[in-house]
Amino acid sequence: MRFVDHDTGRDRRNEIVAVRRVTPGIARITLAGADLHDFRDNGTDQHVAVLFFDDDVIVPDPFTTESVMRMRPFVRPRMRRYTIRRFDPATRTLDIDAVVHGDGGPGVAWAASACVGDRVLWWGPTNAWRPHADTRHVIAVGDETALPAIDALVRETPESVEITVVVEVASPADACYLDEVAGRCRIRIVQRAAPPGTGSPDLMTALRELPMPDGPVDVWGAGEYRTVQGLRRLFHGDHGLDRQRAFLVTYWTHGQAQDERAERRDAATTGRNRQRYPERAREFLRTR
Ligand SMILES: Cc1cc2nc3c(=O)[nH]c(=O)nc-3n(C[C@H](O)[C@H](O)[C@H](O)COP(=O)(O)OP(=O)(O)OC[C@H]3O[C@@H](n4cnc5c(N)ncnc54)[C@H](O)[C@@H]3O)c2cc1C
Repeated sequence: MRFVDHDTGRDRRNEIVAVRRVTPGIARITLAGADLHDFRDNGTDQHVAVLFFDDDVIVPDPFTTESVMRMRPFVRPRMRRYTIRRFDPATRTLDIDAVVHGDGGPGVAWAASACVGDRVLWWGPTNAWRPHADTRHVIAVGDETALPAIDALVRETPESVEITVVVEVASPADACYLDEVAGRCRIRIVQRAAPPGTGSPDLMTALRELPMPDGPVDVWGAGEYRTVQGLRRLFHGDHGLDRQRAFLVTYWTHGQAQDERAERRDAATTGRNRQRYPERAREFLRTR
């Protein structure tokens, strides 16, 4: 594994120029804006942190990493991470594909109610994963949140490398997300039967049945915390791949908001609790 980092991430303001459901459970939010003129595409699993401010918070102007970090903890924005599914250099637009899950949170509230014309504040992009130069086979594993990265990874992996994709989805309708890249890789879809947060037993069975290819192999995987723990046991433990060869990342944790620990820490230091999941600062984003 190696990382590509053409662009030092920075804070950006963009406008939503299109919103549509690409599958029943995934919303595509397309962003554009003048400050994408210098955007350098790192590809694959590069991601951004979208910022959500409470309604009554005055957003610092100028809006920079430094000015946000100077805000008192209980008024700082919440951050949710999303993969850049694709950047189009011709139109200078980028797509974020967000899972519209049913458990609430500022990220899903944003994804479910996004409108053309809304402003979006975000930091990024991060660097991105690439397979090793000697790799003959890539195995990509994940759930719905990993689909944007898997789609990009399949498109960007050299033709000489074989790709196997194993994804776990709650609804088969969401599996059609990968239709455009289906000709380029072998895809195994596993329908989630067990409740989330229980380690994806059906996905693990499918992966144990998968013959490990001959020759150098890279594994990329992302999903729910306990599933990723299982992936680590399988690929690092049973198959003996090191962390460079099997890159496995937690994208979300069942029953826990993404910044919950940081918020608890902030509440402990400031003595103030912020209300969970307030509406975003819609007025600010519309009028600034
Ligand atoms: C590097 C990285 C890249 C990511 N890329 C994407 C992406 O491209 N698209 C995408 O949709 N997500 C992506 N995620 C996952 C996303 O950041 C989390 O799902 C995040 O928790 C969503 O925030 P929220 O405000 O909706 O929920 P939170 O406030 O974080 O959580 C509230 C509740 O919702 C539950 N929850 C959170 N996410 C899910 C889910 N997917 N399914 C079911 N329940 C959930 C939590 O367990 C919690 O109980 C990525 C995460 C990382 C770390």
